[in-house]
Amino acid sequence: MHNFSSSIIELSESALQNNISFLKSQIAPNVLFSSVVKGNAYGHGIEVFVPLAERCGINHFSTFSANEALHAKRSLTNDSDIMIMGDMEGDSLQWAIENGIEFYIFDLERLHEAHSWAKKIGKKAYIHLELETGLNRTGLNNKSLETAVKYIQNNQDSFIIKGICTHYAGAETVNNYLRIQNQIKRFNEQCGWLRSRGLTGFLMHSACSAAMLTYPETQMDMVRIGIAQYGYWPSQETQMHYYLKNGVRDKKKIVDPLKRIIKWKSQITSVKEVEPGEFVGYGTYYLTQRKQKIASVPIGYAHGFARSLSNLGMVLVRGRRAPVVGLVNMNMMMADVSNIPDAKIHDEVVIIGKQKNLQMSVASFSDMTNYLNYEVLVRLPSEIPRVVVN
Ligand SMILES: *Cc1c(COP(=O)(O)O)cnc(C)c1O
Repeated sequence: MHNFSSSIIELSESALQNNISFLKSQIAPNVLFSSVVKGNAYGHGIEVFVPLAERCGINHFSTFSANEALHAKRSLTNDSDIMIMGDMEGDSLQWAIENGIEFYIFDLERLHEAHSWAKKIGKKAYIHLELETGLNRTGLNNKSLETAVKYIQNNQDSFIIKGICTHYAGAETVNNYLRIQNQIKRFNEQCGWLRSRGLTGFLMHSACSAAMLTYPETQMDMVRIGIAQYGYWPSQETQMHYYLKNGVRDKKKIVDPLKRIIKWKSQITSVKEVEPGEFVGYGTYYLTQRKQKIASVPIGYAHGFARSLSNLGMVLVRGRRAPVVGLVNMNMMMADVSNIPDAKIHDEVVIIGKQKNLQMSVASFSDMTNYLNYEVLVRLPSEIPRVVVN
C-alpha cells in the first residue's frame, strides 16, 4: 500500500505490554480490565490499537459512542467484548443488541427502546445500569433506578444486567477527595439496595485510571482504564501519590512504571544556511542573530502541531533539541539546527517520543500549549498512519 504521509505514528508493543502488566499488578487477578479506546484510542488509532491490545491480553474494550464501538468491533481479532459508555445515535441500539455489544442505560427512554428492539430481534440486551452518585452528568437517580429495576424484572426475557456502574467527579486531584468518598459510599449503598431487590450476578465497576491507582477500594469487579494504559499518569498528583505509597520520596530515583507507547516522527525535507539579520518564514516572527542552519519539517497545524508553538516548540534531530523558529504554517514548520552540525535532509525528526537519550513528552508539549495530555493526544489526526513496532 502506498503511503505518502509526511509523518508516521509508531505504537510500541513492548511499552503497552509493560503498562498492562504494571496496571494488572495493581488489581486483584479476578478484576476485569476494560481498555478504554474512546477518542480514537486517545489518538493512538483505534483500528491499530485494538488488535495490539488484544495481543497484550485485553479482552474487554470500552468506547464512548456507538460509532467508536463499530470501529472497535471491525478491528477485533479475538472475540473480545465491547461496551458503549455514552452516545447511541440512530439505529445503533438495534446494531448493539444484534451484535451482543454491551451498553450503558442512564435513562428510562433508552431502557424502553432497548426492550422493544430486543423483543423485535429476539435477543437479550446486555446492559450496564449507570447510577447517579454525585457527578451529576448522566446516571439514574434513586427514583428512576427503582422504576428501571421493576421494568427489567417484568421483562426478564429482554435484558441481561452485565454491570452496575458509576463515574467519579475527578479522582486525579485531592481537591475532590470528599466528593469521591461520598460517591463511593453512595454507590456501595445503591448496589446493596439492588441486591436486596434480588439482583445478583452483575459486575460492579467505577474506577478510571486515577481512581484505580489512588482509591483501590474503587476497583471492585472491573476497572475502566484509559490514559494510564497509554503510558501517562492522569495527573502529577496521582503519580506522586503512587510513589509516596510505595515509599519513594525522590521522584528521580525510581523508574516510571508507565512507558509511553506513542512516537510521532517525520523527517527533514530541506536544510539551508541563512545569513545574520534575515527574517525566517512569513512576516517578522523570527530574525536570525548569526549565520543559522534552518531545517524545514513537513508538519504544521493541519497535522495537529499547534500554531501557538511558533517560536516556542521543540523537536528532536539526531538526539538533540531543535527549536521551532518562526510561524508554524499549515503544512510545514522550520527548526533551527545550527547546533546539530551533521543535520541533513531525510534525518528523522521526532515531534513526540524518544530519540536517543532525549524525550519530547506530551506533557512538555502540553505545558507549551496549555492543553491537557488527553487533549494533545486526542487531537492527533486520524489520517496519520499508525504502525506497530516492538
Ligand atoms: C474516559 C472514561 C474512563 C477512562 O478514564 P481515564 O482517566 O482515561 O482512565 C473511564 N470511565 C468513563 C465513564 C470514561 O468516560
